Amino acid sequence: MAAKIARLELANIRAVHAFAREQGIDCDSNPCNTTDVIYDAGRWVLAQKAVRALQDAMPGDNAAVYTFHGPDEVRSKFYCGKGGDEGVFGGISYEAGSINAYKFTIGVLKLCLKKGLDLQTNTPVTRVDRLPEGFYKVDTPRGTVTARRVVMATNGYTAHLLKRFQGHIVPLRGHVTAQRPGLNMPQGGLENTYTFSYAKGYDYMIPQPPGSKFEGDIVIGGRLSSAASEGLYEYGTTDDSTEDEDTMQDLSNTLPQYFGDNWGTDHPDGRTRMKWTGIMGYGPDGLPFVGEMPGEKDLWVSAGFQGHGMVFCWMSARGLVEMMEGRDGEELRGWFPDAFRIHQSRFGLTFKDRMHTHGDPSA
Ligand SMILES: Cc1cc2nc3c(=O)[nH]c(=O)nc-3n(C[C@H](O)[C@H](O)[C@H](O)COP(=O)(O)OP(=O)(O)OC[C@H]3O[C@@H](n4cnc5c(N)ncnc54)[C@H](O)[C@@H]3O)c2cc1C
Repeated sequence: MAAKIARLELANIRAVHAFAREQGIDCDSNPCNTTDVIYDAGRWVLAQKAVRALQDAMPGDNAAVYTFHGPDEVRSKFYCGKGGDEGVFGGISYEAGSINAYKFTIGVLKLCLKKGLDLQTNTPVTRVDRLPEGFYKVDTPRGTVTARRVVMATNGYTAHLLKRFQGHIVPLRGHVTAQRPGLNMPQGGLENTYTFSYAKGYDYMIPQPPGSKFEGDIVIGGRLSSAASEGLYEYGTTDDSTEDEDTMQDLSNTLPQYFGDNWGTDHPDGRTRMKWTGIMGYGPDGLPFVGEMPGEKDLWVSAGFQGHGMVFCWMSARGLVEMMEGRDGEELRGWFPDAFRIHQSRFGLTFKDRMHTHGDPSA
């Protein structure tokens, strides 16, 4: 199953960039490598073990191509400084990519509009009910729609409409900043995206590629553990017009720590250009829910993508359409992970730990 998920992830990355290219969507599409920089001894051991297990399970597979870097190479090749008390233990690079998700989505919506999509913006669905004759009634503040089939692609907000997801897709507020690079850093942008992994969690970083509006800027998000009780109260937060000040403050300070002397002095216009929050959807097993709701015919879901959904939601949508069109056979089972499907048993799972922080046992 892990091998299938790894293949799906790589196929998803490639498919999104290929679609953007083929359809001429202007979205800063940048297929590139990513590097995990690891600042914790335990995590470094675990990361190497995980990659080797993957490579043993799928030798020669494109989705198992990973390159290890020792601490010196991480510093010399990726501009990383010493970074914290323990310093860098190592790094791992593999195929990834970055994209301006907003511009990509607008591009996809424009294509859909040309095909006849009826798009109603600023129109939240407030209720979904099944009518006795089998249709669904979908209420909004601007009217009601009746539909034979409904697809819920509402991610972190799904449980608001489908109560069965309470406790199974839990909203989690994430924090992001866009920062101008320090004056010693490459002003045209770093080549790779990065993840910085440390004992209490991780931060993820995307440089804005050449030709983008803020070329060279570094987008960095994460620091969940900086909020009270290591981010516990970010779970259940659905309001992305608000932020946790401690988290934002930490994120704003983090790049000079990661890059050390390679950062240099801050840009004269200031380090942080923009900051924002967004809502993700987390579940107990860390996997999305894709398929028809058990016992609720014609009610379909593709949601719960955690903080890693851009690499899953495209292919999950493809898988969902295959299921909806009745092509749910060998071919689909060959590439779409069973673990992503909506099985009744997954509604019995509860959160036992937190995925991206150690979690404070006293909290
Ligand atoms: C801060 C942050 C950082 C992230 N970083 C990464 C990353 O680096 N890599 C990665 O792979 N993924 C990342 N993700 C995750 C990724 O953005 C999501 O997994 C992905 O967007 C999921 O796509 P989606 O369309 O399923 O859900 P969303 O993009 O969440 O879209 C859900 C949509 O449903 C709409 N909606 C919800 N309820 C209703 C309703 N009642 N009526 C009408 N509309 C409704 C919402 O308005 C929203 O437009 C990040 C997410 C966040 C928030």
